[in-house]
Amino acid sequence: MGNNQQAYDAECAALAHALELAPQRSTTPERVTIFSDAQAAIRQMAWDEPGPGQQYALQARKHITTLRRARKGNVMEIGWCPARKGVAGNEKADEWAKIAAGEPNTRGVEWLSSSGRTEVRAAPLPRSLASLKREISEKKWVVARQWAGGRTSKIKYCMPKSQKPDSVVADSTKRLASRYYQPKTGHARTGQYLHWAKVRPEAQCWWCKCPSQTRDHLFKVCPE
Ligand SMILES: [Zn+2]
Repeated sequence: MGNNQQAYDAECAALAHALELAPQRSTTPERVTIFSDAQAAIRQMAWDEPGPGQQYALQARKHITTLRRARKGNVMEIGWCPARKGVAGNEKADEWAKIAAGEPNTRGVEWLSSSGRTEVRAAPLPRSLASLKREISEKKWVVARQWAGGRTSKIKYCMPKSQKPDSVVADSTKRLASRYYQPKTGHARTGQYLHWAKVRPEAQCWWCKCPSQTRDHLFKVCPE
């Protein structure tokens, strides 16, 4: 399936593949039970909603119909089992997942070459929505970091290395979080900021008449 597919897609594909292989057995099975340790993939098989893995859910439906047609009233189950080495069938499932992940796409697409003659080239591998979304957000963050990096001065605010929000701040109220981020980003109502924002004529501290009321001054120096 190439590098463009997520592990989740491989799991969905493996489930669909298992259903595809079931009717190809010599005897038509009366009962088909598939075990998987991928809960999200199992859940996706039961849904019609568009989303990652949908194409495999549709494939699975098709294979189920084939099975039903071959033998009326047969029972099909997809069950969850914890991932464990040595469980019967688990090695086989891993094998199938690997086959599904390695299957090349043989569909060819006609391309117009510069000489005007058409030639057949291998089509790019199909990509999952999850994979596309990931690429988009990764590119977006690079641009966002460059933009923010050019706008903030290192003295006032250092961009955190991780994109994850601070869990303590995220769990607090919006009011409290803004109280925390204002001084952190240099936007607290200090004399220095109000002077910069042209609200006050000078950056002087209104408590101790120190010439510049900065963040550090208020927290560490100002007697008030
Ligand atoms: Zn002061």
